[in-house]
Amino acid sequence: LTDCLFCSIAAGDIPADTMSESDRVMAFRDISPQAPTHVLVIPKAHYPDIGALVATDAALVGELVRTAADVASAEGIEGGWRLLFNTGPDAGQTVFHVHAHILGGRRLGALG
Ligand code: 5GP
Ligand code: ZN
Repeated sequence: LTDCLFCSIAAGDIPADTMSESDRVMAFRDISPQAPTHVLVIPKAHYPDIGALVATDAALVGELVRTAADVASAEGIEGGWRLLFNTGPDAGQTVFHVHAHILGGRRLGALG
């Protein structure tokens, strides 16, 4: 039992539209997509944000990015895609289990 939403998804306790899963990483579609492709990539282990993750397991960051690139290929978003980690309240982070957003399938606006 956990009170973390993405730990619950990783454990299979809350369903998700899963695109890929390995021992350590999972990719699933965002429940409120902001683009035709909007996929979240998470480590199954709990880290609150990308800073905490890279400090503890930099190789796992590589696995997240590899998974994101594979998802982008599978989605066929040759026009381009964006990978971002919202980190902290000022960046709009609302789920404090680190996740990368993959966004693509439309022309994306400037950041900020
Ligand atoms: P953040 O704002 O923390 O960077 O992103 C959290 C993301 O999680 C949001 O884009 C939100 O739509 C997504 N989200 C929140 N709850 C759920 C859920 O239960 N399932 C899925 N698939 N996505 C969720
Ligand atoms: Zn968690």
